[in-house]
Amino acid sequence: MLNISGLNEGIVLDHIEAGKSMDIYYHLGLDKLDCTIAIIKNAKSSKMGKKDIIKIDGGLDIVDLDVLGYIDHNVTVNIIKDNRIVEKRRLKLPKKITNVIQCKNPRCITSIEQELPHVFYLADEEKQIYRCAYCEEKYGKKKF
Ligand SMILES: [Zn+2]
Repeated sequence: MLNISGLNEGIVLDHIEAGKSMDIYYHLGLDKLDCTIAIIKNAKSSKMGKKDIIKIDGGLDIVDLDVLGYIDHNVTVNIIKDNRIVEKRRLKLPKKITNVIQCKNPRCITSIEQELPHVFYLADEEKQIYRCAYCEEKYGKKKF
């Protein structure tokens, strides 16, 4: 049972791969928020051995689930209301991501037209391969 004490209302990101919580913290822009955030590292997990947990005192609108799904789609998103878990969400690799990763192809139009959004789409779900929407440049998720 996930310990949610001290959080009446908010979000708990559970089952984060141990050591990845800070990546998630920065990529979700949580460092720019005013709300209370607790990061728990190396919590014991029967399923994973060790895991990280992030507790956020705020609504689901704070968290970009596409970005989170891209970084670690095994994270469970628990939504807390009145001191209990009212909803659990499982994540998937997003089909499309915008401005999360950047195309490294120097001939890509996004290298020339700086104002263009960096759009990648999921080309191979099993191998976790993304491709640039403009030039098809491959981006393996493992490099993240
Ligand atoms: Zn490109």
